[in-house]
Amino acid sequence: MPVLLAGHPGLELCNTWAGWDEPPGPHREWLRGYDHLATWAGHASLLDGPTVRRLRTTARREPEAAERSLAATRSFRARLRTLLLDPGDAVAFGAVAAQARRAAAAARLTAGPDGVASWTLAPDNPLDLPLLACARAAADLLCTPARAHVRACPGTDCGWLFLDPRGRRRWCTMAICGNRAKVRAYANRH
Ligand SMILES: [Zn+2]
Repeated sequence: MPVLLAGHPGLELCNTWAGWDEPPGPHREWLRGYDHLATWAGHASLLDGPTVRRLRTTARREPEAAERSLAATRSFRARLRTLLLDPGDAVAFGAVAAQARRAAAAARLTAGPDGVASWTLAPDNPLDLPLLACARAAADLLCTPARAHVRACPGTDCGWLFLDPRGRRRWCTMAICGNRAKVRAYANRH
């Protein structure tokens, strides 16, 4: 599973692909199947464990529907990343807003055992839960001032997004991309 380092759940989906500025290739993809998507959504705390297990079972029973939902999630991921880096992209905004609208329509106020209620998602197609959970988290981010602090890592084979509120962060991780750049600079000098 990819490391969670974005600083907001609405960004993590964009970090399930590595090498946004390089030619596409199968090794760049973390979400290789619906099973990966459901497991990742649990890893990113967007869905709870029992929901993830239920989705994985449903996906095995309905592989074509699961594949469609995965394709829609990948497409949403690309649009969301475009929008986060270019707030003026109306096409990307429209695509993201459409999924956010679906997430809002699927929201149900649910009573909790301790008296604290919460918003849960109950879409017509349960397989869309990961996609709609991502859309809801992304919409939350787009509605906050933190949205202006989204940066993309300039590292080769990277392009991951993260929040940089103080304007001091360049790399997704110093240990990976920052270090790689240092090694390359060193090799160029010698
Ligand atoms: Zn990076």
